[in-house]
Amino acid sequence: MTAPLFPRVAIIGLGLIGSSLARCFQADPTLAGTVVAADRSDAVCARVLDLGLAAEAGTDAAAAVTGADLVILAVPIGACAALAAEIGPRLKPGAILTDVGSVKESVVRDMLPHLAAGVHFVPGHPIAGTEHSGPDAGFASLFQGRWCILTPPAGTDPDAVERVATLWRRCGSMVEVMEPGHHDRVLAITSHLPHLIAYTIVGTATDLEEHLQSAVIRFSASGFRDFTRIAASDPVMWRDIFLNNREAVLEIIQRFTEDLTALQRAIRWGEGETLEALFTRTRAIRRGIIDAKQA
Ligand code: NAP
Repeated sequence: MTAPLFPRVAIIGLGLIGSSLARCFQADPTLAGTVVAADRSDAVCARVLDLGLAAEAGTDAAAAVTGADLVILAVPIGACAALAAEIGPRLKPGAILTDVGSVKESVVRDMLPHLAAGVHFVPGHPIAGTEHSGPDAGFASLFQGRWCILTPPAGTDPDAVERVATLWRRCGSMVEVMEPGHHDRVLAITSHLPHLIAYTIVGTATDLEEHLQSAVIRFSASGFRDFTRIAASDPVMWRDIFLNNREAVLEIIQRFTEDLTALQRAIRWGEGETLEALFTRTRAIRRGIIDAKQA
């Protein structure tokens, strides 16, 4: 039998993303020899063992990473700095540390200072997810056909980057390597702004008078429903994303606000051709996404 890609893997945080990765390891034993899990919740650890997702599961992250060849942090990004401080001294020389956080510049800034020179840090972000959380929400095909962006700091060992890229490819993903700041600006427009808009629309609807509110729910299939799905995403995760990608998100909100004001003006002055030209352009973008199989 061929040796596994990583003899010993520790996953910290067994929610949607962590447990999906654990299911990938479960489905393909050539990826990891032994998988150990750590989560701050006893209930999550018990569930992980019930599901057979790890050989061991406990609340002590530092113990879990001891001797691991690959450590995957799959916790909200606000927890990364403290966890790096906790596990940093216990990582073995040559170990690879990666994460799955949705913002990359702040994660690199917060974690790197806690890592010894012999540890390879390869931050990552799978562009895959759902609005569900917890170990029961995960599934092995989550990453199939989705991009995973890796943002290794300058000077990272290329072999370590390649091993993490290989892991993601074997979980079904396509891999792109990017500079962390570029990642954060791209995601501000493709993911963070759409979530902010969804949170705003659903928030506005819940502030409506009661009689309007019930009609909104009854006739939600007209577009509102799609926003409610996005706005049901994990509150802690999204709080951390906005606090940690502050500059890029503020810049994109500024541009969005200007464009919205232009549309408001077009509606006010009856400029149908302005509206139609924009809607024609945006329809083409949707077709491009379908052609790229990212719909
Ligand atoms: P999740 O389902 O909420 O799971 C996170 C798990 O980590 C929970 O069990 C949580 O416990 C645990 N945790 C929190 N702080 C911890 C700590 N200090 N030590 C140990 N465990 C801790 O979240 P997720 O959706 O998998 O997201 C995890 C990461 O993936 C986030 O950084 C997010 O930005 C990124 N990501 C998410 C998506 C998505 O669509 N969900 C997509 C791509 C990337 P509690 O429940 O007790 O807090």
